[in-house]
Amino acid sequence: KPADSNQILFADLPISEEILRAVTDMGFVSPSPIQAEAIPPILDGRDVIGQAQTGTGKTAAFGIPALELVDVQDRSVQALILCPTRELALQVADEIRKLAKYKRGVKIEAIYGGDSIERQIRSLKSGVHIVIGTPGRVMDHMERNTLKLDNVKMMILDEADEMLDMGFREDIESILEDMPQERQTILFSATMSKPILQITQKFQQDPVLVKVVKKELTNTNIEQVYFEVKPKAKVEVMCRLIDMYDLKLLLVFCNTKRKVDEIVEDLQIRGYQAEGLHGDLRQAQRNNVMGKFRAGTTSILVATDVAARGIDVDDVDAVINFDIPLDEEYYVHRIGRTGRAGKSGRAFSMVGRDEKFRFREIQNYTKVRVEKGVIPSFEDIV
Ligand code: ADP
Ligand code: MG
Repeated sequence: KPADSNQILFADLPISEEILRAVTDMGFVSPSPIQAEAIPPILDGRDVIGQAQTGTGKTAAFGIPALELVDVQDRSVQALILCPTRELALQVADEIRKLAKYKRGVKIEAIYGGDSIERQIRSLKSGVHIVIGTPGRVMDHMERNTLKLDNVKMMILDEADEMLDMGFREDIESILEDMPQERQTILFSATMSKPILQITQKFQQDPVLVKVVKKELTNTNIEQVYFEVKPKAKVEVMCRLIDMYDLKLLLVFCNTKRKVDEIVEDLQIRGYQAEGLHGDLRQAQRNNVMGKFRAGTTSILVATDVAARGIDVDDVDAVINFDIPLDEEYYVHRIGRTGRAGKSGRAFSMVGRDEKFRFREIQNYTKVRVEKGVIPSFEDIV
């Protein structure tokens, strides 16, 4: 390699040939900063705290070492990954399956509420190496004795901050207490807080802190613009923006389930392919909606914050804040769904009169001034 090349390649990391081939098939060339910094100590057997914003490739940062650890001959669970939501568990399982493409015989299973427990039990019985689960369902299986953790060597807490926000602290602690002492504990989080540090103090040994945080909380690949809009005109303005910027795949965020349903209906009436995602839908419906969005059959996904936690879909052109989020961190999470992996993205916020103050507070929090946009006129789009 030329001496002047300071770009690290995956081939420079101490990973196996099988994983390297899979990573190459996935189109990854260079590890992201969190991957470059977290993979070596995890492979060394250290406990690691990884802090990085969304869209920085945290899944592979723990997925690769978890796969390297698996002994395929041993049919017991060797790595356990906890995620805050079912969608995220499915997504992490998908990404790890892709990474496992050339490592023959590795069994990976996502276990989460809302899915048939019998099916999960059958799968667990048949031998699974890596389990990715939501805390509630993992506890459930542990109580039924259908998930045995005696051979777990690596425990991973993904999106630890989200899990704590969602009230999973007790579940997480009791899962950790029931696990073998001789294990590696890895924790990933976009933000660090006191409760997280308490967990790491209690359950990690001499952890290595790997921190990749930019000065701005939001990614600079994302063009952020806001529009001052009367609440009644929001759907119209959103449609003009979709047409004018020729947005093909977008995520629209609302603050309530009811609003999600209303907007989906409005968009469908106007001839857009839109679907809603919120907590009242059954799991099968949610999977169906996500599948269509991933395949591009649905171009607009309208969601609440909880339903959309951690969702990762490639090439989302834009995120639209139909409502301004009540929590500043939600803004960061929402717009982090676009402009991933170095691509550019747009984040449009529809600010109603009574949302102006909140939107100003969000900008104080992210330390980024958001530009005010001009609402496209009818002539701009015809
Ligand atoms: P995070 O968990 O930090 O939010 P993800 O693990 O979901 O991020 O990764 C975000 C996206 O970036 C995914 O689509 C993933 O496949 C892609 N990605 C991850 N690592 C790389 C890499 N080294 N090079 C290119 N793309 C990557
Ligand atoms: Mg993630």
